[in-house]
Amino acid sequence: CGVFGLYSPVPNDLAWLTYLGMFALQHRGQEAAGMCVSDGEKFHVEKDLGLVTQVFDERRLDSVRLPNARVSIGHVRYSTTGSNLRFNAQPLTTRTNKGILGMAHNGNFVNALEVRAEMLQEGALFQTTNDSEVMLNLIARESHMDLVEATAAAMQRLKGGYACVLMNRHTLIGFRDPHGVRPLVIGQRDDGAYAMASEPCALYAVGARLLRDVQPGELVWVDRSGLHSLMVEPRAPTPCAFEWIYFARSDSQLDGIDTHASRIRMGEQLAREFPVDADIVVPVPDSGIGAAIGYARESGIPFDYGLYKNPYAGRTFIAPTQEARELKVKMKLSPTSAVRGKRVILVDDSIVRGTTSRQIVNLLREAGATEVHFRVCSPPITHPCFYGIDTAARKELVASTHTQEEIRALIGADTLAFISERGLREAVGGPGLCLACFNGEYPAGTPLLNDVDKLA
Ligand code: 5GP
Ligand code: SF4
Ligand code: MG
Repeated sequence: CGVFGLYSPVPNDLAWLTYLGMFALQHRGQEAAGMCVSDGEKFHVEKDLGLVTQVFDERRLDSVRLPNARVSIGHVRYSTTGSNLRFNAQPLTTRTNKGILGMAHNGNFVNALEVRAEMLQEGALFQTTNDSEVMLNLIARESHMDLVEATAAAMQRLKGGYACVLMNRHTLIGFRDPHGVRPLVIGQRDDGAYAMASEPCALYAVGARLLRDVQPGELVWVDRSGLHSLMVEPRAPTPCAFEWIYFARSDSQLDGIDTHASRIRMGEQLAREFPVDADIVVPVPDSGIGAAIGYARESGIPFDYGLYKNPYAGRTFIAPTQEARELKVKMKLSPTSAVRGKRVILVDDSIVRGTTSRQIVNLLREAGATEVHFRVCSPPITHPCFYGIDTAARKELVASTHTQEEIRALIGADTLAFISERGLREAVGGPGLCLACFNGEYPAGTPLLNDVDKLA
């Protein structure tokens, strides 16, 4: 998912700015979109299934516009827990004796089901199957405390990888899990308005400059007296490696590390680890482009545009069913004449189920490629993600049930190689990384209970 928030000390069209921020985060989730806007008195909420541009047509955007808006948050959803239903769209809202709260969440809480069960016993009510609602309810029922204190207490209770924005009529809050698994950044516009977002690209979209990343375990808030910070539960930082491999936009910088540059380093590393004699290096667009540039640079083999990507197609993996994903591959990609008669090095970010990769290799062969050497800039994905990236259930992960040679045969490539874990670490850099989907070492814990929809 993608989260976004604004606090403006001067009158601004926050509905429109929030729309722009959400649009810049559309790659982080295409299932639903929503926003809350408040002027200190009124509090508007609109959300629905669909892309930002589908949910917010002119009429709907007008319906949340407030001339003196002060605070707003936005969300784009990609479902991991809680099914793809309208009532699971965010921001979630709740009413407390101190007024209404809205929250948008990226990531997952690993102990949300236990906490939810305890709260149900104590008489709490839940409207969704969404783990975000557990966090919001925890904060809301501590309304005898100040909102910042209540949020800090909830952060200590719920474990996992998350980044959230929260608002009432007067305050914008942002917080990031103790390990900083999910990203969150803060920016500011020249008129003094503060913005918070999953990625810097959304700050730039609203004319804000990047101030800094929210730190692991940090809670930040903005109110009439400016920007404040509280370190609630900082731990050793282990941001999600997948943000740099695939998820984040290539013009974003997270925790001081540039996404595009890190992808180039991954490709260079792959070329050193797994060289092969061939004629051209072809990326699977868009996610493989940076790594293919790096592979070509390091190997001296020319980069070429061997796959056309229909710019009107979205991200295929995020389509919710297998059949939908398969049809969407053809909708999205087709080979160009560059591959005819050529030995091709095909570079992509990851192999999850292997189905897309098999189809792409097949497309290249049909178009006359004589050899296809598949190079992947992430290690084999053998474990599920419990922190908000839908890398599929374990049994669907091709690398958890097949050897590398079996995967090569399955996708029909001449050779197949994955970057080493050490190579990936070096290419991204930084102090630490979550690599749990590759090595099973979960820095922020794993769930005890598993099926959210089985619970009341
Ligand atoms: P597969 O061959 O495993 O079916 O598909 C792999 C492709 O899915 C990669 O090109 C990758 O870019 C894409 N992909 C899209 N969204 C995601 C995601 O959320 N997680 C992962 N791991 N891969 C994704
Ligand atoms: Fe990212 Fe993988 Fe860790 Fe999930 S398990 S947070 S996808 S590195
Ligand atoms: Mg891809």
